[in-house]
Amino acid sequence: MKYVPFGKHGFDVSRLGMGCMRLPTTQQDGKTVIDREAAIAMIRHGIDQGINYVDTAYPYHDGESELVVGQALKDGYREQVKLATKLPIWLVKEEKDMNRLLDEQLKKLDVAYIDFYLLHAMNKERMELMRSLNYKKFFKEAIADGRIRHAAFSFHDDKDCFLDILHDYDNWGLAQIQYNYLDDDKQATEEGLKAAGKAGVPLVIMEPLRGGALANPPADVKQLMDSTDRSPVEWAFAYIADYAEVATILSGMSSMEQLNDNLAIFDRLTVGGLTEADKALVKQLKETYLARVPIGCTGCRYCVPCPNDVFIPSIFHSYNENAMLGQDWKHSWGYGNLVKDGHDASKCVGCGACEAQCPQSLPIMELLARIDGEYNK
Ligand code: SF4
Ligand code: SF4
Repeated sequence: MKYVPFGKHGFDVSRLGMGCMRLPTTQQDGKTVIDREAAIAMIRHGIDQGINYVDTAYPYHDGESELVVGQALKDGYREQVKLATKLPIWLVKEEKDMNRLLDEQLKKLDVAYIDFYLLHAMNKERMELMRSLNYKKFFKEAIADGRIRHAAFSFHDDKDCFLDILHDYDNWGLAQIQYNYLDDDKQATEEGLKAAGKAGVPLVIMEPLRGGALANPPADVKQLMDSTDRSPVEWAFAYIADYAEVATILSGMSSMEQLNDNLAIFDRLTVGGLTEADKALVKQLKETYLARVPIGCTGCRYCVPCPNDVFIPSIFHSYNENAMLGQDWKHSWGYGNLVKDGHDASKCVGCGACEAQCPQSLPIMELLARIDGEYNK
């Protein structure tokens, strides 16, 4: 395992972190639950092999992840790792909720303290709420009374929002962002990543494989990697590990086999390890993915609301994403939800109001008809 200094925290963190949102599961009474024995064995094996950062959160596995992580960290494992979990902000209505939830999480994890306590999935609205509830006071007190060691946040919004949160508090212990070679211009963006580095806030990366999609690329993307000695998974990790600003990279592993594969890959990854030729190849991978996008919708949302409640940008996004990643669009979760909620392409009545608003001059009605036709084929 390779390690890098974890910001100014005075210890070195393993570059592979144990993400606990996709633990091994099993069926019990018709429900999908964590396979506790397999999950505990996997987490402990990872720690035995040098992983020293474990990340969980209140909602993972319907609340079961924190309980299982707590079990896995018994028998001397707690002392070997930095433990991170997250405040479920959507359950916070008033100041005292933050303390109540933290206490509940300490109990579930059965630990005396949490090393990194993150505001979960921060965005503009949640930041407003946290400001109004004086989140800095909450963190100050929780650090002072020993329940947490460091304040932190995870993030899903745009670059301006990331910079706003990053610079709002001079005591962030880390920031957790979504980053991979397809998303380096989205959410926090590379600019945000660099800004965090400049501010001395170490980064924890989530979704390095974009929910696993980059591990199974479509044929035209994969053939670009076929003649190299890196697998699609290794290219995705290598791209992120190249950044000095990145401390640890979370991988949500679901089996011992995935864990062992990742451990082997991370032994080969270094900061600044990509050559110029490697970087050019990653750029080509991204361009090849993007060239697969069939509809030039920018997501600007000028076309909504549609009087018939058709979620035009969401429909195009779902269609484009699946085409880009070479995945089965018709059975995608995103479009399935639009159909379920009555916002899908079939609801278009052809009034034409949207097309006049589209700066890309997209033939929206024709595209919706095509998508609906494909869906019902
Ligand atoms: S043409 Fe269809 S999608 Fe566009 S505004 Fe009218 S009903 Fe909505
Ligand atoms: S206005 Fe055009 S580009 Fe913007 S979200 Fe709607 S369809 Fe996409």
